[in-house]
Amino acid sequence: MQDGETCWRYLGEGNRSVVLAHSRENIVLKFLKFPVDTRQDDKALSNVAERLRNMIDYTQQVMKSLIGPAYVHCGELAEMPTDLAKRISAQIHHFRPASRHGKTMDVWSGFATRLPNLTRLQPPEGLEPHADVLCIEIKPKCGFLPTPCRVRSMLKQRVCRYCMHQYLKVTNGKCKKVNRYCPLDLYSGDVQRMEFAIRGLLENPQNNLRVFKNGELIFGCRDERACPTDLPALAAHLRPFFASGPDEVNEGGENVIGMLVAFLVHALLHEPNEQGDDIWQDDALNSSGYFKSTTICTASQFGHNGSRNGCSLSQDSDRLPPSCVLARVRRAQCLDLLDIEGVHPLYLRLQQHILKQPPQSRFSLRLDQPYDGEFLQVLQDKSTFDDGSLQFAVRKIQQYLVSMTAKDVSIMIACAAHGNFREKTLTTTTCQTSSKFWPPATLSVLPSLPTSTAKLSLPRLRFSVSVLDLDPKPLEKVAHHWRQDRQILECYNAWHNKRL
Ligand code: ATP
Ligand code: MG
Ligand code: ZN
Ligand code: MG
Repeated sequence: MQDGETCWRYLGEGNRSVVLAHSRENIVLKFLKFPVDTRQDDKALSNVAERLRNMIDYTQQVMKSLIGPAYVHCGELAEMPTDLAKRISAQIHHFRPASRHGKTMDVWSGFATRLPNLTRLQPPEGLEPHADVLCIEIKPKCGFLPTPCRVRSMLKQRVCRYCMHQYLKVTNGKCKKVNRYCPLDLYSGDVQRMEFAIRGLLENPQNNLRVFKNGELIFGCRDERACPTDLPALAAHLRPFFASGPDEVNEGGENVIGMLVAFLVHALLHEPNEQGDDIWQDDALNSSGYFKSTTICTASQFGHNGSRNGCSLSQDSDRLPPSCVLARVRRAQCLDLLDIEGVHPLYLRLQQHILKQPPQSRFSLRLDQPYDGEFLQVLQDKSTFDDGSLQFAVRKIQQYLVSMTAKDVSIMIACAAHGNFREKTLTTTTCQTSSKFWPPATLSVLPSLPTSTAKLSLPRLRFSVSVLDLDPKPLEKVAHHWRQDRQILECYNAWHNKRL
């Protein structure tokens, strides 16, 4: 069959790319985006294939080493005839949020990145042909507070960036309501705090939570400005996955929502069997208690209104299993050793140097490539002493850019009924993936729901955990981040001073 425009449908987009899913195969195409008035002879279009190759290389060489092969799927360069790309672009137009219409998918270069469709189970083999697949996308954002010696602002030492950013987002209309989700709760490894965080996301998903069923968005939104949440409708979709029968249907679907929350906590804490090479093996961040005193954000509402349920909140409650997806993502985030406050002056130093040099000198700085062993070694350099050199600036900026990628990833948790799943396929596939089962043999992670008899008859699910959006961030993002950091602080202060 031809790969005509009818085979591709809109799946989602970020700032820099539009993603299309194939209707029959388990693949997506990720296209770069350009301003709508881009012309065929625009310089930016001349090296799209090279840019995409560089992005793929970065995911493969850098992010896969940091986050782990069990979670990361690398893409490959794909060609797409430009006339077909144009027809698809016209066809998907009305599915795209209006706020994104200033840019359009690349219909000029003839290239895109092909990736596995991560709204599907990974690997999809072995599934019953018509099994429904549920996928929850969580964009957890930054999971730690900067260490006190790095930042001047007392506020930044107490309140995490996500919680502060909420006020700026509400102020400039980017979203309607301040979220009670705090990333530090999600990354705490404490089951109650994690459940509290996930419930916050379900109440107010913004662009941090989406649910797909068979690849279709069924909960959450593409435009965080308008994000309706219909929990009873979600519960109806969840029932076949998380309830044993119609008896369990109760008011508002609380039973199945509770099961979903418990399942997500389980999947996020799950450690894959095969972890592959770990460049962090002797890492000091691992053992030095880096997170002591940094695990609680004072803006979090956990513990208010009885949500703590009698448990005390210990300061050093960093209980994440070391190879679970959250721990791996956060470790890559922690390459931000100096905070934007420390990195911005280094960025200015580098810019001054670049301005004085011919454009090709940027390559010799090895800022954005090649992504080889040397680059990985730079990432492991934990020195924070500034000797005033250009090399120090380059090293710390490289680390910061990697941490920015890790702060922006999405975690995809997919699951499907494990019915007539053949054991033979199972043993050959589980070794390369983080594929596992739910409910677990020991039910300690379950919330108070449901009753013990119901537990026994719950449907058995196979699940997989993947991480996506592992592209490099451009150098110029440092300047943007710094301005945004000022704005976030000012807005948060203004909002709270008004209340006093
Ligand atoms: P950002 O602006 O955050 O850098 P981006 O432009 O790089 O984002 P992505 O985050 O990679 O774009 O993709 C946008 C959305 O498309 C994701 O949030 C996710 O919902 C969907 N998506 C991306 N890649 C895949 C994939 N391989 N499988 C399934 N869905 C995907
Ligand atoms: Mg993204
Ligand atoms: Zn917070
Ligand atoms: Mg991206």
